[in-house]
Amino acid sequence: MFEKLLIANRGEVALRIQRACREMGIKTVVVHSEADAEAKYVKLADESVCIGPPPSAQSYLNVPAIISAAEVTDAEAIHPGYGFLAENADFAERVEQSGFVFIGPRAETIRLMGDKVSAKNAMKKAGVPVVPGIDSALPEEPKEIVRVAREIGYPVIIKSAGGGGGRGMRVVHTEAALFNAVQTTRAEAQAAFGNPAVYMEKYLENPRHIEIQVIADKHKNVIHLGDRECSMQRRHQKVIEEAPAPLLNARARLRIAERCAEACRKIGYVGAGTFEFLYEEDEFYFIEMNTRLQVEHPVTEMITGLDIVQLQIRIAAGERLPLKQRDVALLGHAIECRINAEDPYDFTPSPGRIASLHMPGGPGIRVDSHAYAGYFVPPNYDSLVGKIIAYGDTREQAIARLRIALSEIVVEGIKTNIPLHQELLQDAAFLRGGTSIHYLEEKLAKMVREE
Ligand code: ADP
Repeated sequence: MFEKLLIANRGEVALRIQRACREMGIKTVVVHSEADAEAKYVKLADESVCIGPPPSAQSYLNVPAIISAAEVTDAEAIHPGYGFLAENADFAERVEQSGFVFIGPRAETIRLMGDKVSAKNAMKKAGVPVVPGIDSALPEEPKEIVRVAREIGYPVIIKSAGGGGGRGMRVVHTEAALFNAVQTTRAEAQAAFGNPAVYMEKYLENPRHIEIQVIADKHKNVIHLGDRECSMQRRHQKVIEEAPAPLLNARARLRIAERCAEACRKIGYVGAGTFEFLYEEDEFYFIEMNTRLQVEHPVTEMITGLDIVQLQIRIAAGERLPLKQRDVALLGHAIECRINAEDPYDFTPSPGRIASLHMPGGPGIRVDSHAYAGYFVPPNYDSLVGKIIAYGDTREQAIARLRIALSEIVVEGIKTNIPLHQELLQDAAFLRGGTSIHYLEEKLAKMVREE
């Protein structure tokens, strides 16, 4: 096992990885920007290295600075967390070429999955059902674009091949709007991802977002850890996540998870990964694979009793998976609320100093947060200040515990989205389960109209 690991990330996930390392007796190095210098999790690490000024481009995305931090501290492995460089194949390659172990899949796998067109094709070939669409990036000729859209049938969605974070996509309902939409998305894709390639697929009108967690070692062993639902979204950003997805047919659930594990075997996948699907009228449609740890991994940890971060580290060190598929028991239900520093209704970011803070507890409650009273939420990064995860024997119990937990939290000095979560946990449609990915935005729009 590694003696020392460098964490190339910040915030709650930097703390999460640190905790896994401590339990395993691995020393930690945290790299940080000037904006995060005072954070407690930075002080908690065995070592810390300042890698640049607040803007991410000069710090958390500064590859040479991260590599030299690993060199000067004698770290052996680098965990990228999620976001930043976690799905950057060039970074994974640089890490390995510099003699460190990258905690994640092989660079070529990240590259394959990072291009959504090649990812879809690979998955289709491996027997995973995908959203109907074209097998390649869209050509330039307007005539050809029109033909493709007619073939798929409106509405269609134009998506960036190199996209991520819910950006760079556009829904098109009519032929009249098509060409403009393609041009705008291309320009956006070039600006945001440095890759103008866009592709087209069927726009599903009322799907749910359901994903499968998989994990594979370097010895061809692959297991799946069941499904999660993340349909509560705003601007394609997940707000609430749960495991397992409610109201799913047990056979369909198992079949899709097995297909994902099988696909991992076929492409020689290594590490933790997530297959994301849209689910509509009992059918699953693959949209993308995330080749990294996900924000919502704790809900799966709660129902499996496994530590996904520790498994990632063990696998990177060459260990075999400690269990077989038949040993994976999915028990109970878990729900996670992402706590963001933002206005609960207009969603404007609310950085600043947290004046006072009280976190919840009690049976079945897990808090993953780097926040504390006196912590300054910097304006430079995403607004996630923590996650409250509730576990119960049933979905009802998990919801009840989450409600109590949210009623206990006190965060003063900044605004948070806790009031929105409280409202959602009383929402009849959410309580029934099975709401589509549009539900939250429709609800928010209705609330604005009623004001
Ligand atoms: P990203 O990598 O940017 O998150 P995804 O491909 O995962 O992009 O899509 C993000 C979200 O966009 C999905 O969760 C869903 O809400 C919506 N979406 C993507 N593709 C489709 C589609 N074909 N039909 C309907 N909604 C879609």
